[in-house]
Amino acid sequence: PPAFDAVALRRQFPLLANEPALVYLDNAATTHKPLAVLAAERHFYEHANANVHRSAHRLAHAATEAFEGARRTVARFLGAASAAEVVFTRGATEAINLVAQSWARAHLRPGDEIVLSMLEHHANIVPWQLLAAERGLVLRVIGLAADGSLDLDAFHALLGPRTRLVAVTALSNASGVRPPLGQMIAAAQAIGARVLVDAAQAAAHDRLDVSTLGADFLVFSGHKVFGPTGIGVLWAPMAVLDSMPPWQGGGEMIERVSFAGTTFNRPPYRFEAGTPPIAQAVGLAAALDWLAGLDRAALARHEAQLLQRLEQGLAQLRQVHPIASAAGRGPVTSLTFGAVHPFDVAQFLDARDIAVRVGNHCAQPLMEALGVNGTLRISLCAYNTEADVEAVLAALSDTLELLA
Ligand code: PMP
Repeated sequence: PPAFDAVALRRQFPLLANEPALVYLDNAATTHKPLAVLAAERHFYEHANANVHRSAHRLAHAATEAFEGARRTVARFLGAASAAEVVFTRGATEAINLVAQSWARAHLRPGDEIVLSMLEHHANIVPWQLLAAERGLVLRVIGLAADGSLDLDAFHALLGPRTRLVAVTALSNASGVRPPLGQMIAAAQAIGARVLVDAAQAAAHDRLDVSTLGADFLVFSGHKVFGPTGIGVLWAPMAVLDSMPPWQGGGEMIERVSFAGTTFNRPPYRFEAGTPPIAQAVGLAAALDWLAGLDRAALARHEAQLLQRLEQGLAQLRQVHPIASAAGRGPVTSLTFGAVHPFDVAQFLDARDIAVRVGNHCAQPLMEALGVNGTLRISLCAYNTEADVEAVLAALSDTLELLA
């Protein structure tokens, strides 16, 4: 099979060209942007800038067409049945809050249960806690198996007559674990629960196809998939979106406003109050087209090979303890170093211009379950190379020798 040319791919990323010494291994926090994305946003502002859906002039039509074209691109990327199933949000966080504040607030009753997993990002925990406290909902949490994957027996045992929603990540930002979504979605739906998939991390690595996944909600953020910040997506089938009341009020989301009462627009507009992130949607569409244009199978092999080489190298280093060893993980690894603090290690790496993240990765419950108070996370993506992996391995080896 053809090899994946990450070295050539890097040339499409101005930041990487401007920072030739930088070894960027913080891709789970955010990815850099290819020229195609920068050019698309710039083209929008230079040739089609106007507000959408309103004014009766040529540019407004161009802007609306660019924005709605972006929605169609997202729908195609996700395998959605229609562009109307794509709601633009500020990011994955806002998309989850939308589901909590609209769908769950309208459909869940006191005593109803939401099943989350120990792997979740705070963005897929706190919105449910806020609503649970207000509405008397019960949160249940799938624990971990010894290899850092989810304890599936525990998951099945948690499902019951009051389970209304299972909200789970497709790929853990902290440990790289990919829960078995197909099996989990089937089990949840068999008892009448809905499933929300947090694809914030998976979007850059895995092919997402909602037509075969079978989830009821899927969310992701533009900035983690080579697109702009300030834009994200909620996807849900039209029947589900149709059953959801508005959550934010303003322009665009209404049908007719009077002081006697207001009627609301159809989805997706019902959920897009105010001027949306128009240029960001255009940039996101460019990112998804760019990603779809890569050889995705070769990209997946590339990432798996880099992770394998990284883990082989790490296994040679005394004092390095990965928090998960489960098979089939995404290109993310999170490390502790015995008595040496991850923060100190990260500072040594930064001095060599190697960018990693250190801390709890917005996954404090996971850190607590693992009995660690923080990790050093290395997260790879399409433009990382073997040289990046060798650089971080060499730097870790030197640093640990010094600090140990
Ligand atoms: N879920 C996961 C798994 C994430 O990694 C992140 C971002 N770190 C989020 C949700 C939230 O994404 P955003 O901050 O872009 O809304």
